Amino acid sequence: MGRETYKDFDATELLCPNCKKAVPVRKRLLLILSNGDKYDYMCVFCGTSVGDKIVKQKDNLRIIK
Ligand SMILES: [Zn+2]
Repeated sequence: MGRETYKDFDATELLCPNCKKAVPVRKRLLLILSNGDKYDYMCVFCGTSVGDKIVKQKDNLRIIK
């Protein structure tokens, strides 16, 4: 019980070029790739895309043959 691992940062602040400051971002699943999921990070204020990231699935990937 209580086995929660810190997977990934969710509530990160990134620098928004439009707001010209570090802003909280909204994570949006963009693509599902063979090596992970690609997320897009958008500024919560103006909606500008401030970055993206591929979250790799390492532990919970199980290939059943
Ligand atoms: Zn912004």
